[in-house]
Amino acid sequence: MEDSFEFLSLVLDSITEHIVVIDEAGDIKYVNRSWSAFGNNNECTVGHDWRGVNYLEVCDKAAGAGDDFGANAGDGIRSVIEQRSSLFYLEYPCHSPDEPRWFMMRVSPFRISDASYFVITHQNITERKLAEEKVLKLSRIDELTGIANRRHFNEFIESEWERCHRHNMPICLAMIDLDYFKLLNDSYGHQVGDKCLKSIGKILQNYALRPSDICARYGGEEFAIVYGDTNLQQAKGLLNELLKQIRSLNILNENSPTSPTLTASVGIYSTFPSKENNVSELIRRTDDLLYMAKKNGRNQIYS
Ligand code: GH3
Ligand code: MG
Ligand code: MG
Repeated sequence: MEDSFEFLSLVLDSITEHIVVIDEAGDIKYVNRSWSAFGNNNECTVGHDWRGVNYLEVCDKAAGAGDDFGANAGDGIRSVIEQRSSLFYLEYPCHSPDEPRWFMMRVSPFRISDASYFVITHQNITERKLAEEKVLKLSRIDELTGIANRRHFNEFIESEWERCHRHNMPICLAMIDLDYFKLLNDSYGHQVGDKCLKSIGKILQNYALRPSDICARYGGEEFAIVYGDTNLQQAKGLLNELLKQIRSLNILNENSPTSPTLTASVGIYSTFPSKENNVSELIRRTDDLLYMAKKNGRNQIYS
């Protein structure tokens, strides 16, 4: 029976995609040249020695070892074999030790003399994936300061809120607003103002180091920091240090009525996420505290 698939080589051996043909039981009937070459170069379990190998068993074995993509691939192939879907696509990572690599698996059925077979194509989509990752990264960054922009902040705080809710952990938000920044622009020019914002962004990065933290430019000369799994005392300690560091830059703001060098005001609020509150409420309360810090003299933290 295997010989009857040799005709596929005429068409499929010349293309760069890795192709395997299986029958309804998942038994491999044919692999193209590109598939064999890839398997041999990548310690793949299904390379040249593909005869007698069941593709579904390979997927199940990977799934059993905790590989979610193996599980998804197995489910998808079965859905086409059992005619629950007419096609199946799956994008999955397959990184080599020295470079990131992504593939797209495509499963489609065909028939030869009353028997059903399935072509499984693996196409290298690394270039597109890396481009998509780059675009996503750029879309999340504030151009001037290089830290997260408001869009990324919004997404992050929502998901961190949910995570803290699930694990019954506190979440903390700090809003940081530069004091009398308009006067600094008016005194020394917008470009000097921009340079200050960049310096502040650089400092802020050192105060959001864990995966559950983010520092972002919330807008204009206002910044925000989220600390997941953090209580008020811990956050206040960090923000006190941050304000000290901003003051130690000694950026001139001579016309400011409160200090001849640049300072900032902070509102911090910490809460345990629950069904009764939400992110908007957290932002509103933090904003109220920032307003109090401003109103009562600036260059301080209100919590
Ligand atoms: P307050 O202490 O009450 O916060 O006073 P403020 O002057 O900092 O606040 P206000 O809201 O009156 O003005 C904010 C200023 O921030 C106005 C604007 O000139 C400046 N600003 C906002 N975005 C940028 C920016 O991207 N670059 C520069 N250079 N300045 C900016
Ligand atoms: Mg301000
Ligand atoms: Mg402001």
